[in-house]
Amino acid sequence: MLDIKWIRDREEEVQLAADRKHIALSVKALLELDDRKRRLLAEVEELRRQRNERSKQVEALMRSGAREAAEEAQAAIARAKAEQAAAEADLREAERQLGEMLLRVPNTVSPDTPDGDSDADNVELRRVGEPAAFDFAYRDHVSLCELHGMLDLARGAKTAGSRHYYLKGTGALLHRAVQQLAVDMLLRKGFTLMDVPLIVRGEALTGAGFFPLGQDQVYRLDEEDLWLVGTSEASLVSYCANEVLDLAQPLRLAAASTCFRSEIGSAGRDVHGLYRVHQFAKVEQVVVCEADPAVSDAMLHEITAHAEELLQLLELPYRVVAVCAGDMSQKTFKQFDIETWMPSRGAYGETHSASNLHDFQARRSRIRYRTPEGKLAYAHTLNNTMVATPRILIPLLEIHQEADGSIRIPTALQPYLNGLERIATP
Ligand code: AMP
Repeated sequence: MLDIKWIRDREEEVQLAADRKHIALSVKALLELDDRKRRLLAEVEELRRQRNERSKQVEALMRSGAREAAEEAQAAIARAKAEQAAAEADLREAERQLGEMLLRVPNTVSPDTPDGDSDADNVELRRVGEPAAFDFAYRDHVSLCELHGMLDLARGAKTAGSRHYYLKGTGALLHRAVQQLAVDMLLRKGFTLMDVPLIVRGEALTGAGFFPLGQDQVYRLDEEDLWLVGTSEASLVSYCANEVLDLAQPLRLAAASTCFRSEIGSAGRDVHGLYRVHQFAKVEQVVVCEADPAVSDAMLHEITAHAEELLQLLELPYRVVAVCAGDMSQKTFKQFDIETWMPSRGAYGETHSASNLHDFQARRSRIRYRTPEGKLAYAHTLNNTMVATPRILIPLLEIHQEADGSIRIPTALQPYLNGLERIATP
């Protein structure tokens, strides 16, 4: 939980962040509620003190045989009891409201974050590679998959509804190959691979900053406070929750997991093919480091570079954008997205999202470390996609297709497909 002192110290900054992120929150009202809670707490404590004192008086009066005075004092205690119960109820209600409001408080936003309302306002930082130009009538990923028998959307819908799919044969192998390439790269970069719970408690999602504002995006297991993760980031952050870590070196964690998304609010958007689905696989990078802004900013660049290296190995053109405040989530301090060129969309499409959360998740999840001076401090946390599939298969198949419908496999991926150099046209 963010502490109130943190918010008081940066009242204007937090309000500005809420406004820029379109989060309905009045920091002034929150601080007033905290003042009220403090007053009620003082009142309740005073009433408790008075009651104890009166009880002692009653005992003394009884001992000295002043029966009448003792009974009067006893009656005063009974009257004060009701007053105390009312004050305690007010205090509980103020604490409940304050708890709810605190969970809506956003992280502040880095000074170099662009202004803006939506992804249209994100600012391009660099482009790598040229968008593909075809001198033949190219196919989109769905028709390429159909040509090669790699995908079945109709049966996906039959089994699970829209935005579900079956990958088949080489399609399923490609899906696994890109993940294993991503995992191997991260292992070489010193990441520890984790296999993580995909069913987690609400507390884990609150701690990682997905709840309460993103609750409608997450599938719930019937009747229980158990949820299917939308990203292994939640499980990896929760792994560190309530711990004091040794962060002499940044902790680098990776997971390859299935991700589940309700995609509420996306009705009618990206309905074609494999772009936006309810279930996908993601290799994720999570970093926990000391709370030095220079260190975590360097880590943000590092985890962004990892994803760029993977895209270069896959020989895909992409661009990196600085995400504007209005396109950021509650928890984010600074964010880069990587968008890969997707010929069938005639546009770059988001394939990776790298975020520095500063100490926002760490405060909510109580992830701490000891500074060299021996003090306990909240850590900084970061995350980035290494690869998410099947979305990455869209550019991979479309960009590497040839006039006859065959698909060239980039050299770096071939070892993961038993040396397959090309998916030949049947
Ligand atoms: P996020 O965890 O929301 O930052 O998403 C990270 C990456 O996961 C995105 O850049 C996409 O590549 C992928 N992704 C997110 N949502 C979906 C979805 N509904 N369907 C397919 N891929 C997704």
